[in-house]
Amino acid sequence: MIPLSSATESPTFADVLLAAERIKPWAHRTPVLRSRTVDAEIGAQLFFKCENFQRMGAFKFRGAMNALSQFNETQRKHGVITYSSGNHAQGTALAAQLLGIPAVIVMPLDAPAAKVAATRGYGAEVVTYDRYTEDREEIGARLAAERQMTLIPPYDHPHVMAGQGTATLELLQETGPLDALFVCLGGGGLLSGAALAARALSPACKVYGVEPEAGNDGQQSLRSGEIVSIATPKTIADGAQTQHLGHYTFDVIRRNVDDIHTVSDAELIACMRFFAERMKMVVEPTGCLGIAAARKFKDQLKGKRVGVIISGGNVDLGKLAGFLAG
Ligand SMILES: *Cc1c(COP(=O)(O)O)cnc(C)c1O
Repeated sequence: MIPLSSATESPTFADVLLAAERIKPWAHRTPVLRSRTVDAEIGAQLFFKCENFQRMGAFKFRGAMNALSQFNETQRKHGVITYSSGNHAQGTALAAQLLGIPAVIVMPLDAPAAKVAATRGYGAEVVTYDRYTEDREEIGARLAAERQMTLIPPYDHPHVMAGQGTATLELLQETGPLDALFVCLGGGGLLSGAALAARALSPACKVYGVEPEAGNDGQQSLRSGEIVSIATPKTIADGAQTQHLGHYTFDVIRRNVDDIHTVSDAELIACMRFFAERMKMVVEPTGCLGIAAARKFKDQLKGKRVGVIISGGNVDLGKLAGFLAG
């Protein structure tokens, strides 16, 4: 069991509202964009919450800032430690830098170079490991104990989940009630926070998580009623290469999410191309999960008002060029 900084119960919508107040001075209120082309293609009204324009390029800053801003004096002094394949690393490093808290980040050896450089750029110490043979949770827990640092995991933490929920809170404040919401799914921090906000502000809204086909552990978990663990999936959606949902995230997802869909890497690439060509936006592969599913299930969305969370835009430009050319 991962030692938590303080909270020991699944978050509620009240925690999302408190998180919004806490992070307000620091986080961007990202735009909600529309596209006539997508609306025409899908036959629905789509609202894109663009977290690719969030600070450090993804929603992860929200959860990290909400968690770190609740540290007590001793925790602030010893610092924060976390493990991440990229965006949570940058989110934590930036939040720590802004709050003057030391940060150690455990990252896979094959993490995108741009993400490693950005994390170091925010002043964090980076420790690397092999994601196919070593256990990052074990490494994180050991270092945390040795250095008395507080471990803030990438998704399975009530403060992180509440922070991530603020993206959907802002979306719904702007759009009013929606019929459906599509949310990228890795370990479930974003989806669980989104579901809390949607259940409170738009109770009839169908909430869908979207995973890469190669890693449908969340879909298996929701359908079987217990957390299913898989081998690290091989997919271009590097933000969703998680092996299992968390204890807290599954608890919230199980009770508040309608279904979990999957999409292929080819479908993600088509969406990256669409965002670049039509909306002039760089969206990372994982950030395309939501729209890819909305396109795939468009027959069920005719005439509806549909929210899509674009979760991030951090993609190595060399890789992006390869995807777009391929
Ligand atoms: C982390 C991340 C996800 C998945 O979020 P979880 O909270 O782990 O489900 C999706 N997209 C991007 C861009 C991410 O960085």
